[in-house]
Amino acid sequence: MNLNDPGLPKVIRRLPWAFALAVPVSLAIGAGAVWIPVALGRPGAGGMWGSVLMPLAIFAPVFVAIVFVRMRLVRIRRQVAATGGRCCTACLHELAGLGEAGRCPECGDGFEVQRDQASWRKAGLLGKQGL
Ligand SMILES: [Zn+2]
Repeated sequence: MNLNDPGLPKVIRRLPWAFALAVPVSLAIGAGAVWIPVALGRPGAGGMWGSVLMPLAIFAPVFVAIVFVRMRLVRIRRQVAATGGRCCTACLHELAGLGEAGRCPECGDGFEVQRDQASWRKAGLLGKQGL
């Protein structure tokens, strides 16, 4: 699935940004993790720090991004299922009782129920039968 596909819901297309943020944070922590032992006068520090803690610290933001994306997907899947795909593709606000097209009262993004349900289906978050 190409996540840049404009046919996909915005909330899905935004998910990779968690990784776009996690990678530079990991690199910064990695640089710090290498620099701290040098600053403490213990370059090449081994033991627990070098073999376990430092790699964990470096990859922690990536792990956090993976957990964040999984939790976000669960929340999106639940909201889409609960509303039958009748929720905002940008902020997940429920759009029941607001007609077939208009503006989301929560975020102001335009919605069109038929088109939005098709995009939820395309993302694999809504059954083929829809409602
Ligand atoms: Zn919205």
